[in-house]
Amino acid sequence: MSIAENIAHIRAQMNAAAIEAGRDPKEILLCAATKMNDGENVRQAIAGGVDCCGENRVQELTKKLSENAYDGAPVHFIGHLQTNKVKQVVGKVDLIQSVDSLRLLNAIQEQAAKQNIVQKILLEINVGGEESKSGFCVGEIYEICEKMTNFPNIRVEGLMTVPPICQIPGENRKFFQEIYQLSVDITTKKYDNVCVKILSMGMSDDFRDAIACGSTMVRIGTAIFGARDYSK
Ligand SMILES: *Cc1c(COP(=O)(O)O)cnc(C)c1O
Repeated sequence: MSIAENIAHIRAQMNAAAIEAGRDPKEILLCAATKMNDGENVRQAIAGGVDCCGENRVQELTKKLSENAYDGAPVHFIGHLQTNKVKQVVGKVDLIQSVDSLRLLNAIQEQAAKQNIVQKILLEINVGGEESKSGFCVGEIYEICEKMTNFPNIRVEGLMTVPPICQIPGENRKFFQEIYQLSVDITTKKYDNVCVKILSMGMSDDFRDAIACGSTMVRIGTAIFGARDYSK
């Protein structure tokens, strides 16, 4: 199947999952996770109607930006971002989804202030508490949101999570529900510079479960582009 056909198929499944959950399908955006895909594949995904692209690595982002590969769709950063590479990302992407430490927040603030812009971000949550993953703990988030008043050049637009790899279908629903509840709690508290609009959760294997639990953005790689070849 072509990239466009894959996207049409995913959209149909997204819409069905939304309707089943009593939600409006228009509430849920499709982000193409473009890592290891070249500019041509990115262009095909945009032509196929994805709402945005998500890039994991700074080097790939910079290369594809220089090729104008993302023309026609917003680009997001979704990978672990080192503070020494912040300059190559702040102001270059619409949204940094993967903000995972106070140190990174400080670096983004400094860079965004220099550029005189407000950088939109999501706070990444390590919902499974996995050693191998970055992200804030669930319990840490309130404290971080309180601190956002000190970051005038950053706007928190929501939460992002990558749950543990799923062994049994539906197993991750408890994590998605936990993040949804957290987003409701944060909204109630009305923190400065925090306005939860986006819940970025769900990937190729579990996006229907994520939509059932309140996701407003799914990040899909494999189901759009096919399996990634890590041998290259
Ligand atoms: C690769 C990646 C995805 C997409 O994963 P698939 O299983 O290929 O759909 C989503 N989010 C992040 C942060 C990723 O790195």
